[in-house]
Amino acid sequence: MRIADKLAARQTYSLEIFPPKGEMPLEDAYQISGEMARTSPDWISVTYSAGGTGNRLNTAKIAASIERDFGTTALAHLTCLGATCADVDAYIGELMHQGVQNVLALRGDRRPGVGEVDFVHASDLVAHLRAFGPDLCIGAACYPEGHVEAESLESSMEALAIKQDAGADFLVSQLFFDNETFYRFRELCLRHRIKLPIVAGIMPFTSVKQIQRMAFNCGASIPAQVVKRLVRVGDDPADQAKAGVEYACEQLVDLAANGVDGLHVYSINHPEIALAAHDALVGCGYLGA
Ligand code: FAD
Repeated sequence: MRIADKLAARQTYSLEIFPPKGEMPLEDAYQISGEMARTSPDWISVTYSAGGTGNRLNTAKIAASIERDFGTTALAHLTCLGATCADVDAYIGELMHQGVQNVLALRGDRRPGVGEVDFVHASDLVAHLRAFGPDLCIGAACYPEGHVEAESLESSMEALAIKQDAGADFLVSQLFFDNETFYRFRELCLRHRIKLPIVAGIMPFTSVKQIQRMAFNCGASIPAQVVKRLVRVGDDPADQAKAGVEYACEQLVDLAANGVDGLHVYSINHPEIALAAHDALVGCGYLGA
């Protein structure tokens, strides 16, 4: 089913998986998808390895399995840096053949040796995908604090408006740790006439190192309340991870109370994160029991 149709009907809850790296067999990803599917998400998104590296073909296989084996809607990510139109068309053809009709159209992060070929911005990919017709539902990324490469939040918003005009159907946000940034971003979207449904993306921090890396890689700010919480829990990795899941659940409950279009949990191959998020959202009445 098209994700845009789900978003038009209700507030959604979704999860994320990434294809196996290194030695992890594909079967493990199928099993993790199955465990996540048991929490009845509106969809599970499957990330894509940018620039033609590694295991990107597994994205289509996992997305197909989510649809076929678990009866859950899949959102297959696709990045366009380094890709040709023919690469993209072959990938979309395969997805549609497998019954996957939702794609998250992304540029991908820049990496050495991977330049623009047929696409410069994600909006170019969105416009290209639009030619597949209305059956293909196209999502795009948005950035509550501005994209890390953008000169200003304003220029990031202008780029977002171009994605909307190119034909995107819905937006999924970059992670953020301060809900106020998301609420300000929603207002900014209105001022920029961005009318697409916006799904708020929440990722639990798992350690001090990981949250520092995320902040550096994607420009998400770390609020004082998170720093204080991490200081309080001390050096134990298990305590830090537990605090991260608790904090993410508090963010989700607050977002649910503030009328978001949808909630996306960057559950990063951890069914236990999906379960904690699900329970918190049932507890606050956002999801049915
Ligand atoms: P774009 O929209 O092209 O934006 C990139 C930069 O160009 C921004 O600074 C923007 O302001 C600017 N820009 C955009 N359009 C224009 C224009 N027309 N004119 C001038 N400037 C413009 N990466 C992966 O590799 N695999 C994944 O599976 C993946 N999943 C993601 C899921 C979500 C929800 C998010 C938020 C990010 C994801 N990423 C993923 C990371 C993403 O690839 C990076 O954030 C990347 O740096 C930008 O991607 P984009 O699609 O937003 O690019």
